[in-house]
Amino acid sequence: MSKKSILGLIRRHLRQFHAYTPGEQPSARSKWIKLNTNENPFPPAPEVLEAVKNACDARFRLYPDPLASGLRKSLAKIHGVAPENVLVGNGSDDILAMCVRSFVEPSDSSIAKQFPHRATVQYFDPSYSLYPVIAGIHKARQLSQPLNPDFGIPSVTELRDSSQWDMKAALTFITTPNAPSGRGYATSQLEQLCRALKGVVVLDEAYAEFANENAMSLATRHPHVLVSRTFSKAYSLCFQRIGYVVGHPELIQALDKIRDSYNVNGLGQVAAISTLNHHEYYEMNFQVIMEERNKLSQALQALGFHVFSSQTNFILVEPIGLSAPEWFEKLREQKIMIRYFKHPRVDKFLRISVGSPSENLKLLTSIKKILKTTRTSH
Ligand SMILES: *Cc1c(COP(=O)(O)O)cnc(C)c1O
Repeated sequence: MSKKSILGLIRRHLRQFHAYTPGEQPSARSKWIKLNTNENPFPPAPEVLEAVKNACDARFRLYPDPLASGLRKSLAKIHGVAPENVLVGNGSDDILAMCVRSFVEPSDSSIAKQFPHRATVQYFDPSYSLYPVIAGIHKARQLSQPLNPDFGIPSVTELRDSSQWDMKAALTFITTPNAPSGRGYATSQLEQLCRALKGVVVLDEAYAEFANENAMSLATRHPHVLVSRTFSKAYSLCFQRIGYVVGHPELIQALDKIRDSYNVNGLGQVAAISTLNHHEYYEMNFQVIMEERNKLSQALQALGFHVFSSQTNFILVEPIGLSAPEWFEKLREQKIMIRYFKHPRVDKFLRISVGSPSENLKLLTSIKKILKTTRTSH
């Protein structure tokens, strides 16, 4: 078969399709300081690792609990809802993709021709760069509304007037706090926006544990609002892929219908349940990370960088001396990985995950060293 005829086997709209670009994962145990994917600098609680080790036995031949019942029960208790209000995913990415498939008509369907808003996924720009990818796979119509220059959300009145926003859109994704800026939003403002929106709203709270407030209460007060959370960032569990969503039982049931039967792996369920049983350990980590975030922000500001105020475990900065991609390269040479996005709204900035205290010190030392060499060479 020729290459051309093999390509002919693939759905036409996927041939030109651009996949999500994950942050780089260097090979295990190399000596990188890794501040590029917002992972937690601290390991899981020792008891969590122990629970996972203790689960490595003959049960591997069995399927895991397809309903993740134990985990859903624990999560329901924590959030003061019923297990019917909770669905667990293979990371929250799995949940976000399920939302597109459950609530949005493909744009070439007959219903979409009559009611374009039923095929519309909308989100703010910049926000989580996965949204356009999962919308694109589904052939959804996409609207992307620019955030204000300070990454604030435009007012409901401004959004009503915008051609890049539709209050009737089938699905709205809101990253709160925002990524990649780190900006947090008041629940009162989010509620005002949710009231104006007529379709499903997903509040993507991947970083809520590092913020001043969270909007979980909106998922219980408004039937069309879902809140998604993840164990990846705050709970040091990226490796295990556990995310979940809280909302009205009818919406949760719709997601449950299309879910892969065994979408949550067994060790992940064990790790997540154990995590919830050791919350105090993580609370302490949140405090350290937030303090480190604030210290790092101040230190970079003192060097002349512009640092956007953050309510997450990362900061967005506008560097001085060199361009953002040059800083990215220079720090790479020092074995420090940070994130640079070649995206129009943020291509002058660098996103830096908050590391451990010693990692943040090494980062600052490297930045000072690089600044010195740029000053002497100019
Ligand atoms: C990291 C991240 C996620 C995905 O988390 P997983 O649970 O690891 O899939 C979702 N949304 C945002 C905004 C994130 O930054």
